[in-house]
Amino acid sequence: MTGMLTSRNMDRKTDNRFRSVLRAATDRLRACLADAPAGSGETPYLDALVLLAHAASMTSEQLFAAFEDQVPDPVLAEYQSFVSDRCDGAPVSYIRRVKEFFGRDFLVGPGVLVPRPDTEMLVESALDEIDRLRGGSPHVHDCCTGSGCVAITIARERDCTVTASDSSEEALSYARSNAVALDATSVAFWNGDLLAPLRTRIAGGQTTGPAIITANPPYVADNEVDHLIERGWPEPALALAGGQDGLLFIGRLIREAAACLPDGGCLMVEIGADQGPATVRLFEEAGFGEVSLIRDLGDRDRVCNGRWYRR
Ligand code: GLN
Repeated sequence: MTGMLTSRNMDRKTDNRFRSVLRAATDRLRACLADAPAGSGETPYLDALVLLAHAASMTSEQLFAAFEDQVPDPVLAEYQSFVSDRCDGAPVSYIRRVKEFFGRDFLVGPGVLVPRPDTEMLVESALDEIDRLRGGSPHVHDCCTGSGCVAITIARERDCTVTASDSSEEALSYARSNAVALDATSVAFWNGDLLAPLRTRIAGGQTTGPAIITANPPYVADNEVDHLIERGWPEPALALAGGQDGLLFIGRLIREAAACLPDGGCLMVEIGADQGPATVRLFEEAGFGEVSLIRDLGDRDRVCNGRWYRR
């Protein structure tokens, strides 16, 4: 009897090696993510691996090196709860509370859009323009800042004065925490609708018209967002839904920017892959010049830039 118990315990222990735990979690995630919303790019093995490394406070290299070791019970308990959260639709970055963007770790979680690698194109575009301006610590304003990833990255990468705004106070609390954690406390964060907080401060003489406005506004068509949310998409609809054709905020932003930019100032907007020609038209109709599209690494239109010349 005792012998049987011992061997059963040993079996149970054997099953708790990192290798076996990872395999079981991958199978569980493969089953429950099979029904995830389209576009979420399910990667059950990678998710299971990253979450196990996170629960065990290891790098993935350390985890591979420990493949034949037993997973300690407290780590196993935490891991199972991470895997359950992932099965319930929480993104890995919400569970880890971190997403890397432009080489820095940003705090993320429910209530804020997870930074996407595509948005690094927007940052690159702003950095190029700052370099073109050659010094003088230009003012850059980042609209729809969310986690603050664009504003904080620009502030850390170049000598400039950065302000940022968002209509969500919840998102701004992530942005402010990120500014503290990433040593970018000079960035001022304002709450308000699109460029209203900037316009008010320019009118009141508290700030100047920015040489550059960057924005990653909500640009997904409402019906697509409704579909995603119905199927349990965890990010805030507020950060995604851009009206019937996805162009509602892009169009408003272009018109509002014209009232804030000084002569020669630039507006740079992240757009959806199929919104290039329509966005160029909106820029041109609003009187912007030098309108150009920048493609992402997947060769899709991703950023639209225009320059404002005062008439
Ligand atoms: N790029 C995001 C997505 O594809 C959308 C971000 C946005 O609407 N600004 O989900």
